[in-house]
Amino acid sequence: MAKTWYPVINYLTCVDCGTCVVKCPHEVYDTEKAPSPVVKNPESCIDHCHDCGNRCPVGAITYVGDDTGWTPPNGEQTAEEPCCSCGCEATPEKKVIIEYLYLDLQTCDRCIGTDNVLDEVMLTLTPALELAGYEVEYKKIEMETAELAEQYRFLSSPTIRVNGQDICKSVAENSCGCCSDISGTEVDCRVFEYNGDSYEVPPKEMLAEAILNAVFGQVEIGCSCSKYELPENLKTFYVGKKSKSGCSCGGSCC
Ligand code: SF4
Ligand code: SF4
Repeated sequence: MAKTWYPVINYLTCVDCGTCVVKCPHEVYDTEKAPSPVVKNPESCIDHCHDCGNRCPVGAITYVGDDTGWTPPNGEQTAEEPCCSCGCEATPEKKVIIEYLYLDLQTCDRCIGTDNVLDEVMLTLTPALELAGYEVEYKKIEMETAELAEQYRFLSSPTIRVNGQDICKSVAENSCGCCSDISGTEVDCRVFEYNGDSYEVPPKEMLAEAILNAVFGQVEIGCSCSKYELPENLKTFYVGKKSKSGCSCGGSCC
């Protein structure tokens, strides 16, 4: 599968400071060519990581496949040392990005229910966060294909992320009749664990608490920089969905 996320250098702007080469921990750049930035291993770049772009003092780095709305900071930001390079700490301090990643909003009770609760929570939290000076971006992304799921490092449906971090510390799932029907196979979807109980549709208070804690840093939420592989459960879903639709691509085109 072709790599769909990696840095591109504007050599007309680049001043050969070598920061991107030195700071990338994933050996994407050729260190033998340092300080000049030469992308040697694009396949090692972490999807949605903007770390080198945020550090570039002249805004010379953009990314293939970047549809996040991120723009090079042109040296206006002074990035703190992040814990990793997955992008989870690269969001500007006063910006909150809420992402809702789901498999289906047509028939899946769990995805639709969670979507409704999240809408309701965001309707209340957004004005309060804006009042506190935060710019709020709320995005819903259907994980329509296996390729897209891999691009987003999707682990379980549905997923809610705040500034790139899953609000759930771990993945818990049970059998999902709706997604099993969609794919014609046995598929598990996420259950949300809150105060000792499990919910197929999370309660409002759980989402509000998780989002506020993520924004104001009261809890450590898992980082998504670790090695990623599309879970077998989701592979089964995409292959089943494909075969039900009559397409023979194996889950990558629809
Ligand atoms: S985006 Fe992240 S992983 Fe990719 S080259 Fe830059 S620092 Fe390395
Ligand atoms: S950080 Fe920017 S200016 Fe420095 S070498 Fe990399 S691309 Fe060039």
